Amino acid sequence: MPLGTSGGYTGPFLWINIAVSDFIVIGGGIIGMLSSYTLACKGFSVKLIESQRCGQEASWAGGGIVSPLNPWDYPSSITKLASLSQRSYPLLVEQLLDRTGIDSELYQTGMMTILPDDDDLSSRQVTEKALTWANQYDIELESVEPFFIDQCQPGLGLHPQQCLWLPRVCNVRNPRLLSALKKAISQRPLISVHENTPVTELLFEQRKAQGVLTKAGKFYADKTLVTSGAWSHQLLNTIGAGVKIWPIRGQMLLYRPGPELLNTIVLYGNRYLIPRKDGHILVGSTLENVGFDKTTTEQACAELKAFAESMLPALADYPVIQQWAGLRPASPAGIPQIGPIHGYENLFINAGHYRNGVVLAPGSVQILIDQMLGQPTSLDCGPYQPLGH
Ligand SMILES: Cc1cc2nc3c(=O)[nH]c(=O)nc-3n(C[C@H](O)[C@H](O)[C@H](O)COP(=O)(O)OP(=O)(O)OC[C@H]3O[C@@H](n4cnc5c(N)ncnc54)[C@H](O)[C@@H]3O)c2cc1C
Repeated sequence: MPLGTSGGYTGPFLWINIAVSDFIVIGGGIIGMLSSYTLACKGFSVKLIESQRCGQEASWAGGGIVSPLNPWDYPSSITKLASLSQRSYPLLVEQLLDRTGIDSELYQTGMMTILPDDDDLSSRQVTEKALTWANQYDIELESVEPFFIDQCQPGLGLHPQQCLWLPRVCNVRNPRLLSALKKAISQRPLISVHENTPVTELLFEQRKAQGVLTKAGKFYADKTLVTSGAWSHQLLNTIGAGVKIWPIRGQMLLYRPGPELLNTIVLYGNRYLIPRKDGHILVGSTLENVGFDKTTTEQACAELKAFAESMLPALADYPVIQQWAGLRPASPAGIPQIGPIHGYENLFINAGHYRNGVVLAPGSVQILIDQMLGQPTSLDCGPYQPLGH
């Protein structure tokens, strides 16, 4: 087996991966795999190093909504990055389908946000805020009433008097997107993937990144990129970079009632229902600050089930077929950290996407790669500069 093409650590010996690649990417979630793929498409050699198997953590566990929830509540840095990504998604999914035969099922269902049925100021204020936001960023959004709501999504339990309707919102089948990325990566000779190989240390000469230490030995590259999701702070804190990223557990449920029960993403408060093309329905999600614990709980199952059945009473006739949990990489104000690590050369981060890593992935990868290559970026990267200093 040539150096640099190891399928993973298989023995007790330590070895040195002599070949210096252009990039090391640490972590094979959506951000790390898309970064590796994009860099290789541009002609750079990449070592993608993953502690377990690629595409099994938060990126797999998520709902795949290609929009922030209640997007008008976010700062403009998130709206701009989301818009950049949303424009990229159709082409990305089509390209991956062409190259791998795997369809990530980008599905334009729209997203309906139910507003509380009260006569008080808050619903009116939310509507006003949302309409102003949509107008500012040229995004299609309508305030809709019962006749439209019933036509669009029959069978809702709440009979809401008013909803905010974003007709352009899509969802993507994230586990399939990850499988497609993994297959596309395996087809590119410029990328070597090292699974089951946790990075334990970053290597420097002076303060210039040289590569990484793993239990399988050392790997060297000109530039090192940390895309380790909720775990990113663990690595960077070993060098005192003080990056603030932490895990927030989210639990999800899956139903399979068959097509035609749910036409659109329905959002109420922090929770939602997502329809897949083949009739599966996902229900999410909890927000739990419990550290690196991916256990699922009966309480979350009961709460999400009650939510699902109150939204769509017909779901009470169907069993929950799966429950799982993932760890979102939370960061201050939910703004991802995308750029060079202050005080070090050739060391970069792209992590901390919290609830929006799927929607923000293509845009984040694009602006980070532009920064790493010293090229102009299509967005002002100031708001995403790594925190901690
Ligand atoms: C329940 C839930 C619902 C969600 N819904 C949505 C949604 O609808 N839309 C949306 O946009 N976002 C959603 N998200 C958020 C989104 O999934 C995340 O923001 C995104 O997946 C983060 O991607 P990532 O690649 O940074 O992290 P991850 O997918 O977690 O990948 C990080 C990888 O790094 C690896 N790693 C860690 N440490 C090391 C190390 N030392 N060495 C090597 N490898 C390492 C890990 O094993 C992992 O594979 C949801 C998340 C959850 C949990």
